[in-house]
Amino acid sequence: MTDAVERARTVRAGALRQYAEETASCTKCALAKGRTHVVFGSGNPDAELMFVGEAPGFHEDQQGLPFVGQAGKLLDRLLEGIGLTRGDVMVVNVLKCRPPGNRDPMPEEIAACEPHLFRQIELIEPTLVATLGNFATKLLSGRPAGITRVHGQVQEVTLGARRVLLYPLYHPAAALYTPSMLEVLESDFARIPDLLSRAVEDTAGAFPDGAFPAGASPAGAPADGLAALGAAEEIEAVQLGLF
Ligand code: URA
Repeated sequence: MTDAVERARTVRAGALRQYAEETASCTKCALAKGRTHVVFGSGNPDAELMFVGEAPGFHEDQQGLPFVGQAGKLLDRLLEGIGLTRGDVMVVNVLKCRPPGNRDPMPEEIAACEPHLFRQIELIEPTLVATLGNFATKLLSGRPAGITRVHGQVQEVTLGARRVLLYPLYHPAAALYTPSMLEVLESDFARIPDLLSRAVEDTAGAFPDGAFPAGASPAGAPADGLAALGAAEEIEAVQLGLF
């Protein structure tokens, strides 16, 4: 890794950590009153692949980390199946606070929390964003089509100032109890490595001279981060809890 890439990574991790600290006291919606923790997200700040779930549940609210319950265990298993770990990807939710009783997010909660998600995308600069379930898919695609219709269909979308590949997937929690859904989720997951290399190549092509926007990593650097993520980074991701 070159010094410049290492510096860019440190800057990104620092900016993300600072944003997590700011978000920890968020009171933009009523969910703030009932939460134990704001669940900002966890994983690799330089991830090319970002998963966006729905909202924290009981265990996530208790621990302040996303996908730590049964759905999270399934997510781990699916990642393992394609040769990845949580330390390779970034995992966040549409809502950062738990809705009471794990009810569905309300439109006003999504509207209040949306800037946090967009800022995370801006800071992390993923190339492939996998949405888990209806809420993340509808929000980030900007379309009303439900997950049953669009799962497994790649869409190119502009999120903030960035073109990314959006890849809608069934939510692991839904697949936990429906074997047919789990089969579909597994086969959609199996396409991720291929999509990822395509997305990374496209991004590299967008900046052919190595001239990339201020604050961005050099083209190709994130791919290196994903494929050859050092053990030290993985350990750090776990120790810090968030990233
Ligand atoms: N379901 C989600 O959508 N997010 C979590 O963090 C946990 C379960």
